[in-house]
Amino acid sequence: MHYCKYHPLDGATYFCEQCNVHQCDHCVDDAQLPARCFVCGHHLVSLGSGNQAEPFWRRLPEAFKYPLNASSMSLIVITSIASVMAMLMPFLWILALALYLFAAGALLKYSFTCLERTAMGEMKAPDVMDAYQGGISLLLQLVVITIILGLAVGVAAHFLGPAIGGLLGFIAVISFPAILIRFAQTENMLEAMNPFAALSLIGAIGLPYGLLMAFILIMMTSVGLLHEWIGQLFPAVSYVLQSMVSSYYTLVAFHLMGYMLFQYQDQLGYSARIDEDEELPKREAADRLAAQIQVLLKEGDYERVVTLYYQAFKQYPNDARFFDQFFELLYVCKKTALMADFGTSYLHFLNRKKRLDKLTPGFKQIRVIAPDFLPDSPALRLQLASLLKQQGDSALAVKLLNAMHKQYPDYAELPQAYYLLSDILGQMPAMQAQADKCRQMAQQLEKVAERKKLEAAMAQAEPAIPAAVKAPGRRPPPTVTKSGLQLELVPMEPVATNEKAE
Ligand SMILES: [Zn+2]
Ligand SMILES: [Zn+2]
Repeated sequence: MHYCKYHPLDGATYFCEQCNVHQCDHCVDDAQLPARCFVCGHHLVSLGSGNQAEPFWRRLPEAFKYPLNASSMSLIVITSIASVMAMLMPFLWILALALYLFAAGALLKYSFTCLERTAMGEMKAPDVMDAYQGGISLLLQLVVITIILGLAVGVAAHFLGPAIGGLLGFIAVISFPAILIRFAQTENMLEAMNPFAALSLIGAIGLPYGLLMAFILIMMTSVGLLHEWIGQLFPAVSYVLQSMVSSYYTLVAFHLMGYMLFQYQDQLGYSARIDEDEELPKREAADRLAAQIQVLLKEGDYERVVTLYYQAFKQYPNDARFFDQFFELLYVCKKTALMADFGTSYLHFLNRKKRLDKLTPGFKQIRVIAPDFLPDSPALRLQLASLLKQQGDSALAVKLLNAMHKQYPDYAELPQAYYLLSDILGQMPAMQAQADKCRQMAQQLEKVAERKKLEAAMAQAEPAIPAAVKAPGRRPPPTVTKSGLQLELVPMEPVATNEKAE
């Protein structure tokens, strides 16, 4: 059994000949069939799910639950009562025989259907109504098969001596489940009795086949024991009970035989897929992308991982796992440049998802990896600064707001930003003068903003005038304060006058 390279505990269902790697269903690109390799893009070899099927003895609890459903149980009860009734009316022997054949035939047909469906990967018992036709003819054929086998052994013992007869009898008993399996699969007596087919089936399954036989034997013995215990006291009850238990065991045994076919489908030359939840919903494109990222990550192909993450951010801007995983990855791997690039998107994402409690911790984490990082968005800066002010982290808040009017001269809430900066500076020791300057600037900015609004209103009334080319403002040397903060406070008059002159 092969295991998925990326999930060492899961059985593989695919193989990439190009990469020489085994994959599970999760780790392949199944957007179109046949599935492709996430790493190299080549078509994959499907292993079928027999490869990942657990051996039947580990499935015994499930196997015993297999007939426990209303449909199968009602069939078991009805056929048991019918066959016991048939035994109790010897006076109408034709009717009794018909009843008995009907009951046994129905159960046999249903058992065969169970085997067939299980072999195709259906792990739930089929509906009884799916399997009510042709039971009696199947039963008769099975009787014929048994008689032919018995005759063959008898003839061999008579003509070739008891030793060879005994050996043949032994082989016949051993092959009987294989013959049953073949018969259930083909519903053809001759094909079922082909000794080579039966032997090759046994050979393909190997030792577990012996275990299955032992298991069937134990179940048969337990029916006999049950009869011994209860039979002497209540014969009629015992017959019904015995018949019910043996029918139940029959269904379990046929399910197990079918499971064995399913498990060894590769060796037996066919391919089936398990569908325990009826039809699995097709994987979402986002899930597939996430799976591909995980595979490439485990392959160490970081360049493609980054490309795929950026693709995911564009396609699924609200899918938290991509943002959180990429953030985590950059943080753990200490990727400074990528973190500086991704930081703003991540903070925007947190905002979008209303995870406001994560905003400042996230911001600080980003700065651990990219120490100079400041979000490239004035609104985010203002929001972070006011949160940091509440948390008492004035230094970082000042860094966020400092010189914002130069970087974002068109930001509508510049005055608010500078009022906030002035408040923060006012709370810091020996920064009163700076705080006052900031307040003045906020007031100037407010005036400018009002004037701009007025101009915009006028421009709407008249045809648009080409926008003024702004003269670069003179830049006084940055003021270094006692606390080590750099403040860049630029008077706004020159810019304003220029605009007016136009
Ligand atoms: Zn996998
Ligand atoms: Zn490949």
